[in-house]
Amino acid sequence: MLAPDDNSLSSVFPHGTAILGYPAGAMPRESKQARGLRAKRILNALFEAHPDAHCALHYTSPYELLCATLLSAQCTDKVVNTVTPALFKRFPDVGRLAQARPSELERIIRSTGFYKNKTKNLIGMARAVRDKHGGHMPKTMEELVELPGVGRKTANVMLGNAFGTPGLVVDTHVARLSNRMGLTRESDPVRIERDLTQLIPEEHWTQFSHAMIFHGRRICSARNPSCESCPVFCDCPFPRQSSRRAGRKP
Ligand code: SF4
Repeated sequence: MLAPDDNSLSSVFPHGTAILGYPAGAMPRESKQARGLRAKRILNALFEAHPDAHCALHYTSPYELLCATLLSAQCTDKVVNTVTPALFKRFPDVGRLAQARPSELERIIRSTGFYKNKTKNLIGMARAVRDKHGGHMPKTMEELVELPGVGRKTANVMLGNAFGTPGLVVDTHVARLSNRMGLTRESDPVRIERDLTQLIPEEHWTQFSHAMIFHGRRICSARNPSCESCPVFCDCPFPRQSSRRAGRKP
């Protein structure tokens, strides 16, 4: 069963706590102000390292972005991008998608996995937008999370990328990296979002999410983070913590 955003702990930390930066209570000791300054340096380093960071899903409208984001649960953006051209051609708007035959939709999106559940969410979302919002995609967090299959992560993707409203997306990369960087000790995505929004200036929420996701894909992978060549090495306590845990000199 796919929960809204698929934000279960097992999806955020699929390999258990081994990939977390800190076990509970092992955050670096620092004042709120020091953490804020460190977060700012991390933000600058990430922006410098990943100036090309952007939403990797292909879309031309809020409707298309929401469909693509719903399909991206437990699936790579690359696979989603191979499926959406046919989807958008056959169902170009919420009106058409609301009337889709589930079996036809399932056939189109099958390769993204969890296709029965995603079909239900896509048709449910389209009907809700058609019936409750006159066919127009809602633009607020409160309204978006009321749509079938939409949780805070998906809503923040929509706010930041479709509507230009700051949105801090906590996906598996952002959850893992923010723990390793000592910006949070939480594993629940909603709590991680709360911690990060207190450290990162609002106008940077959207781009910070993109940069973290790119950093997670390119440098700070779940299994083998490339700490030696990482631009935030000096501000990330994870390498020192790992050395200590392994009994090596930090
Ligand atoms: S120093 Fe290592 S753990 Fe920290 S962000 Fe860079 S790659 Fe990830």
